[in-house]
Amino acid sequence: MKFETLAVHAGAEPDPATAALAPPIHLSTTFEHAPDGATLHGFMYVRDGNPTQSRLEQSLAAIDSAAAALAFASGMAASSALLQSLPRGAHVLIPADGYYAVRVLAREYFPRWGVEHDLVSMDDLDAVRAAMRDTTRAIWAESPSNPLMTICDLGALAEIAHGRGAMLVVDSTFATPALQRPIELGADAVVHSMTKYLGGHSDVQGGSVAFRERGEFYTAVEHTRKIVGGVASPFNCWLVLRGIRTLAPRMRMHSANARAVAEFLAQHPAVEAVHYPALPSHPGHEIAKRQMSDFGGMLSFRLKSGREAAIALTAKLNVFKTATSLGGVESLIEHRASSEGPGSTTPQNLLRVSVGLEHPDDLIDDLRQALG
Ligand SMILES: *Cc1c(COP(=O)(O)O)cnc(C)c1O
Repeated sequence: MKFETLAVHAGAEPDPATAALAPPIHLSTTFEHAPDGATLHGFMYVRDGNPTQSRLEQSLAAIDSAAAALAFASGMAASSALLQSLPRGAHVLIPADGYYAVRVLAREYFPRWGVEHDLVSMDDLDAVRAAMRDTTRAIWAESPSNPLMTICDLGALAEIAHGRGAMLVVDSTFATPALQRPIELGADAVVHSMTKYLGGHSDVQGGSVAFRERGEFYTAVEHTRKIVGGVASPFNCWLVLRGIRTLAPRMRMHSANARAVAEFLAQHPAVEAVHYPALPSHPGHEIAKRQMSDFGGMLSFRLKSGREAAIALTAKLNVFKTATSLGGVESLIEHRASSEGPGSTTPQNLLRVSVGLEHPDDLIDDLRQALG
């Protein structure tokens, strides 16, 4: 079945007890079981699993072309559980340009877990090959990356990983399964911050991991979730499931709006550079065209006049709200280096934009008046 159909129907079978079409939210933390501990419907305790989460996981697996998926309390809970499930002594390649909290996790927590890492530019395949070790168990890639919109060749990274007995894990939050399905390109696991486009309305936090195989590693990550406890609440699972139903049309409109905004910014004299993979000038344009069905709603741009002017620009905008996060219906802009805080390597003249679902003319008018 096609993506749009899966997004509407996966995990949507009518409630067996009532025939309700909209899924029920099961808030129960505990489930009656047989005297010997055998479950009656497969559920025992909410941290192990619950019916609303199971529906979401069916949907997540279907839309990412995965064999199985697991839901978590946040994108970082999902990422941490995956990385905590690697054996002691494992070595992981982490993108030099990517979600900043993953680098913090690697720097501060990997040593406590006995995991080693190197930071690598994932769009430089020779650098990736050179960084591989016999103990490398995973390449962690993010494409497009946050906030520089770097594109990496996921098929080529999968080949490098598999050639050395490692996994390819892809944080595909910016693209969503509507535009990019890394498992179809060879990845072994896909991570999403469901807080972003999957939820889609800036009102729910969650994370997910989808797996190429329901095998040993899936079982290990599920065990980590149960024991470390970064589970999503049933209500949050329900909200994300509701968000996924409209993911396909939202991503189409986010992409069209972002393209219009990027093209406007690219010709503006105050703008030094626009990072958006739909633009032929983007170094990853050809790869993005191959591995994504559209280019998404995220972009970043740099101002010629530097840090202070970039910060001042956000204050002059009316339709765009100055806020972190992304993937909601409303357009957001932020001075990313300030949000990332001390140690940020993001250029100081860069603004990150999450282009929402407003009319593109209103977004462009707002930017035009603020840029002057
Ligand atoms: C937001 C984000 C995360 C972290 O997700 P949370 O839900 O905030 O924990 C990870 N990766 C990317 C690319 C993100 O944008």
